[in-house]
Amino acid sequence: MAVQIPAVDYLVLGDQPHLQAWRCVACSAAYFDRRNACARCFATSFSRSPLATEGVITAFTRVERGAKQPFTSVVVDLGEGVTVKANLRGMDDPAQIKPETKVRLYTFVAGVDDEGTEAVAFAFEPVGHSEVVGA
Ligand SMILES: [Zn+2]
Repeated sequence: MAVQIPAVDYLVLGDQPHLQAWRCVACSAAYFDRRNACARCFATSFSRSPLATEGVITAFTRVERGAKQPFTSVVVDLGEGVTVKANLRGMDDPAQIKPETKVRLYTFVAGVDDEGTEAVAFAFEPVGHSEVVGA
């Protein structure tokens, strides 16, 4: 199997890919990027926290730009006060997207370098979607 690396630091690969946040030890605020201090309470201690792999869409926009393939960008509420922005796959008709549409994380190979190392990215797809994509 090719060596795989996550496209972003907060994506954890393996048998059960998931996102993880830095959680403020004092107030539980979550951040995807590492912080020196919590923006909510100014504490300086954080711990890594795995996030749910399913959530609900709270906002979306359809992006159509020139000759590029149109795509849908979504904001997904993963619970516990965490939202993440990502692309949506498997639901090309925006009219199908309803408030609280349930989605789940999936990963895919976004690129391969000259040595065969695969960069793995993530997106979300509707729960019940059967397409198997990439990693
Ligand atoms: Zn805090």
